[in-house]
Amino acid sequence: MSNANQIVQNLESLRAQIREATQAANRDPDEINLVAVSKLHPAESISCVVEAGHFDIGENYLQEASEKQNILQDPRIVWHFIGQVQSKKAKFLVGRFHLIHSVDRIKLADALESRAKEKNLVQPILLQVNVSREPQKGGIHLNDLKSLVEHIIEHCTNLDLQGLMCMPPFFDQGEKVRPYFSELRELKNQIQKEMQINLPHLSMGMSGDFYQAIQEGATLLRIGTSIFGAREY
Ligand SMILES: *Cc1c(COP(=O)(O)O)cnc(C)c1O
Repeated sequence: MSNANQIVQNLESLRAQIREATQAANRDPDEINLVAVSKLHPAESISCVVEAGHFDIGENYLQEASEKQNILQDPRIVWHFIGQVQSKKAKFLVGRFHLIHSVDRIKLADALESRAKEKNLVQPILLQVNVSREPQKGGIHLNDLKSLVEHIIEHCTNLDLQGLMCMPPFFDQGEKVRPYFSELRELKNQIQKEMQINLPHLSMGMSGDFYQAIQEGATLLRIGTSIFGAREY
């Protein structure tokens, strides 16, 4: 089978598994969005899923993502930025990604805010939370989450805060990740209640643990390997 056919078949079979997991969790399929994570895969691989009717694409690296955006120039694609970024580069994300999942510090929020103001647009964002508590991992520390939310609500009128994202520690069994997913859901519920805001999104669940993520309330699944195959670093 050609690589393109393989990708489309992977996508179809993943969609079927997501449908099943959604039914088993008694959730509304409209609430669950698949973001196809294409980092380190070429633009042609993105074209394969787009031609198969899938438009949500996630990228991790600014430079690589910009190159693919330039190659594809496809207004149907909904671009998600899910990687780490230096605050001084953050301005390049604004208006070029429909949703930035990985905002995790005040400096970064301020950089996005100032560019969004300049461009006179509202940039949708999520806050990445370091649920694994591993210091080298991205994401805001749990103790600092509330003040980051407060800062954004008070000072970042051109950012539209839509929810939370997490990258749990890696386990070979999805079940082990479940407590991190439920923790993120509880954090979202707390913030909504305390700050009287609506946060529609929970970005969690990858190739090995999307079943548990759906059960724990995910609205954005970020899945790469199951669609595009293994990455070569
Ligand atoms: C690479 C990546 C994914 C996708 O991981 P897979 O295991 O390939 O499904 C999801 N989220 C983030 C933040 C990533 O960097």
